[in-house]
Amino acid sequence: MAMKRMFVNLEQLQQIVKKYATPFHLYDERGIRENVRRLKKAFEWNEGFMEYFAVKATPNPKILQILKEEGCGVDCSSYTELMLADAVGFGSSEIMFSSNVTPQEDFILARKLDAIINLDDITHIDFLEGAAGIPEIISCRYNPGSTFAIGNDIMDNPQEAKYGFTFEQLTEGFIKLQGKGVKYFGLHAFLASNTRDNAYYPALAKVLFETAVKLKNETGAHISFINLSGGIGIPYHPDEKSANILAIGEGVRKAYEEVLVPAGMGDVAIYTELGRFMLGPYGSLITTVIHEKHIHKDYVGVDACTVDLIRPAMYNAYHHITVMGKEKAPFNCQYDVTGGLCENNDKFAVDRMLPQIDIGDILFIHDTGAHGYSMGHNYNGKLRSAEVLLKEDGSAELIRRAETPKDYFSTLDFTGLFK
Ligand SMILES: *Cc1c(COP(=O)(O)O)cnc(C)c1O
Repeated sequence: MAMKRMFVNLEQLQQIVKKYATPFHLYDERGIRENVRRLKKAFEWNEGFMEYFAVKATPNPKILQILKEEGCGVDCSSYTELMLADAVGFGSSEIMFSSNVTPQEDFILARKLDAIINLDDITHIDFLEGAAGIPEIISCRYNPGSTFAIGNDIMDNPQEAKYGFTFEQLTEGFIKLQGKGVKYFGLHAFLASNTRDNAYYPALAKVLFETAVKLKNETGAHISFINLSGGIGIPYHPDEKSANILAIGEGVRKAYEEVLVPAGMGDVAIYTELGRFMLGPYGSLITTVIHEKHIHKDYVGVDACTVDLIRPAMYNAYHHITVMGKEKAPFNCQYDVTGGLCENNDKFAVDRMLPQIDIGDILFIHDTGAHGYSMGHNYNGKLRSAEVLLKEDGSAELIRRAETPKDYFSTLDFTGLFK
């Protein structure tokens, strides 16, 4: 099996663990910055290119600040994500608001922050107008229906997805919005998730570009950007290959030159709303082994659990585990690596071959940088972990403290029970 990239060694990690108790998510500032630069290089052919980081993947202000410094915007989908973007200082053209089933107050805040609103449904035109008025620039989300395939490979089933407008609704919606004063349009779609296939973005781009040309011809609308949203995947398993972002950028450029340029739309900006690709590989869950147990199987129990990382329990997702300091030891023991929830799916690994593990060993659970901490919860009264940033100079900074029982009980403060 291939080795997975590490961004700390045992000594460094031991120093960090002395200062901040496990479990915590650890992020790699250097990796994050270098990755943004690669993405921007891949799309440098497009003058207006902008990545709007999907905040839901890693909603930490320090992480958002780093992305801001690298020239990214943010994609929000809820009231608190908008508050977070505002707190970090993202300005109007730097906030995308791609929500669905949107409450009125969310639209009101999005308008107040002058975010670019990406409407999920044709009925939201009147709803937005009633709530907060229609802006001059607006985006609509497209759902082409049927299945989305690259060659013979079915990538996903848009017909089963709750999101977006049909093509007929886009035509009607664009005309209606023009009547309400919209001058600049965007078009958005998200058709497949966690896709490492380099052909995904180019295929999606082609669908959106062709749709944009038809919409322009049928409605006369001025389309100023096309948003390819998220969905580029990462290799969770060491045997999987990374997507090649330069090849992806080049594939999108080809589709752009084939479809948009001949239609006189060579000024359209390309936007992305990547989450997983931006942060996934640059975060890890650091946890200490606190128990071992030998019954019908061999178990190691760690101080993190599914509340810190739900992907294995929820999607049966693979997350690679490195036992710190035992990278070169033989992988001759088979374990289930478990947390302490009263749920038998609270396991980071099942029947995993690992080096022989001892109590006190530190485990590095890979690729938790996106949809890791953020999908956490408080089941079983477990408290959420801290988040720590490994900075470029090698020092560690606490970027979110761990929850305390006081935080857990804070919504009961009015009862006087937990003073
Ligand atoms: C979740 C989401 C993203 C990011 O998805 P990734 O798979 O993390 O790249 C982008 N846009 C929208 C609208 C989303 O809901």
